[in-house]
Amino acid sequence: MSKKIMVHDTTLRDGEQTPGVSLLPEEKLMIAKALDDVGVDVIEAGAAITSPGEQESIKKISGENLRANISSFARIVKDDIDKALWCGVDSVFLVAPTSDLHIKYKLGIDRNELLKRMADAIDYSKEHGLIVDLCAEDGSRTDIEFLEKVLKKATECKIDRFTIADTVGIMTPDKISEIFLHLAQKAKVPLGIHCHDDLGLATANTICAVKSGAAIIDVAVNGLGERAGNTALEEAVMALKLGYGYETGIKTEKILALSELVEKICGIPVPPNKAIVGENAFTHEAGIHVDGILKKAETYEAIKPELVGAKRMFVLGKHVGAKSVKKMLEDQKISVTDEQLKEIFSQIKYMGDKGKRVTSSDLEAIADSVQGIKREKCLKVQELVAVAGNTITPTASVKLSLNGREIVESAVGTGPVDAALKAIKHATKDVPFELVEYHVDSISGGTDALVKVMVKLKSKDRVVTAQGTGSDIVLASVDALVSGLNSLMAKR
Ligand code: MN
Repeated sequence: MSKKIMVHDTTLRDGEQTPGVSLLPEEKLMIAKALDDVGVDVIEAGAAITSPGEQESIKKISGENLRANISSFARIVKDDIDKALWCGVDSVFLVAPTSDLHIKYKLGIDRNELLKRMADAIDYSKEHGLIVDLCAEDGSRTDIEFLEKVLKKATECKIDRFTIADTVGIMTPDKISEIFLHLAQKAKVPLGIHCHDDLGLATANTICAVKSGAAIIDVAVNGLGERAGNTALEEAVMALKLGYGYETGIKTEKILALSELVEKICGIPVPPNKAIVGENAFTHEAGIHVDGILKKAETYEAIKPELVGAKRMFVLGKHVGAKSVKKMLEDQKISVTDEQLKEIFSQIKYMGDKGKRVTSSDLEAIADSVQGIKREKCLKVQELVAVAGNTITPTASVKLSLNGREIVESAVGTGPVDAALKAIKHATKDVPFELVEYHVDSISGGTDALVKVMVKLKSKDRVVTAQGTGSDIVLASVDALVSGLNSLMAKR
């Protein structure tokens, strides 16, 4: 058994079946290019039968001459295969429901008829030069003797790969192992595994399938997919690599950028505590951990952040230790005496105890007050108007003073917040910065809720975080941005 595992990515097919996700052809193409660049072996670009728009997408991706193999989902129906052929794909992910439940209730036929339809569909696909990955839908709930029969018949029809789908996500690692250990003895083609995360076991099941003979893993970036989603590409690839020494063709250092692209285009936010790609995956707050990491990173960091293109981060809060405060002050180029450090530390603990997240701008403000420094703010907003409605383009105008100079600017945006922040960006064009993160949390429940806006700004090698709070989301956003900019511009 070769140790190199093939990665079949279904972000653009099963991933797009995530409730609330629907992608335009250009968006699908952008993701396909990124998947190709990161090194997946097969891109399941969609299901050609779905719609004319879907066909346009798949055709575009097929026409890109990507390194990866391009595949379309197809049922064992001639029309599905014809549509896939029209898109110019290399292969079909040919799906045959194999459980009695599906055969009887979904298709209303019997096992023999299923085998016949499957054989016809494989023959038709092969006659037209397609690579065929036969997927046993609901394979995990299929009677094992019949599954073996399906594999045998499909192999006689010259399929190239055979995938077992745990369509409803009901498998456990030992049951998956049992199925694969059994089939791997008989299989003459590479076996694939397609899992769903309904029990939170998709990654574990995928790994167990590989350990029991599977050579292809079906995955989706950020674990997107029907219901609870598919096996997450980032989790399976990293667990196979670090836990078992299996290699894939994935350039792991590009994983985070891929995840961010998919998050942005699909509009499904990645939870902060998500393995590998979550915002907190390499972020440390607790004093004991930070102290250990500063002495030797491996003490509390089993996965090197660089390995997936991430960066280690330290944040301030109630669990912080004096050493992290010192380190963060140094990062912001603030030097303090031991006495001052003690006072700054206790003020941060106090804020943390009050349930506040302490940003880098807060840290600077605390340091300034402890050191008795009165700093004139470089940037002040004097007037701000932002308007939105259904008959106008969201527009904002701002009058601000920047180092004593008065500047008036305006901008339009996708909404009043976007317009206001863009107007400030225009007005401060001499201060190069990039808004790398923008977060809104509602502190209380109703439409008059207090909102907390967090921003992260990057300028050359500096990164600052800042927040703004209030019941007006536009003003809170502007406050956060302005305090971040002041922190970037402060002369130290
Ligand atoms: Mn699926």
